[in-house]
Amino acid sequence: RPRVGVLALQGDVREHVRVLSGLGAEVALVRRPDDLAAVGGLVLPGGESSVIDKLARAFGMQEPIRRAIAAGMPMYGTCAGLILLADRIENPIDGQESFGGLDVTVRRNAFGGQSLSFETDLAVEGFDAPVHAAFIRAPRVTEVGEQARPLTALPDGSTVAVRQGNLLGTAFHPEVSGETRFHELFLSLVREAGDDTLRS
Ligand code: GLN
Repeated sequence: RPRVGVLALQGDVREHVRVLSGLGAEVALVRRPDDLAAVGGLVLPGGESSVIDKLARAFGMQEPIRRAIAAGMPMYGTCAGLILLADRIENPIDGQESFGGLDVTVRRNAFGGQSLSFETDLAVEGFDAPVHAAFIRAPRVTEVGEQARPLTALPDGSTVAVRQGNLLGTAFHPEVSGETRFHELFLSLVREAGDDTLRS
């Protein structure tokens, strides 16, 4: 039974806990370095990326999370979480930083006006049926570097889900639309990473 954490500094923590628990995972709220050391994978929720970044630095979590990413810990970021996993933010506010790990550039709040928030169905690489995706003041990936792989795009060509090794990011929120396959994929990465640890 995989033991995973949800970064619980700000954002839609509870929705992720619900989905992960429903899939049979043991879920811990992660606020401190010790909490992170006790889990095999981490979800970075939606919320406000600049606030989560600020709190992560205040709680001494930035470096531990960066080290965990470098060590191969599986992580899944939704929306603000995707921004936090991006190597580059096109339009940071307030000197915001990311943890990095995904070789992508993101633009925050990339959908303006009427389309600030919207829902749509998307075909995703590796899934046999489309995903119902909710976008809420969402970012989009404006550049996918060589290391990262786009998993889906909107009809206008905007990349909105990426994977790089054990890191997954979506600009949308599966945790609010009853979609569980990204969390299942994340948990399978956690199980595989755990097996590797046992082997080495
Ligand atoms: N606009 C938020 C940000 O830039 C993300 C919104 C969300 O997570 N739903 O961090």
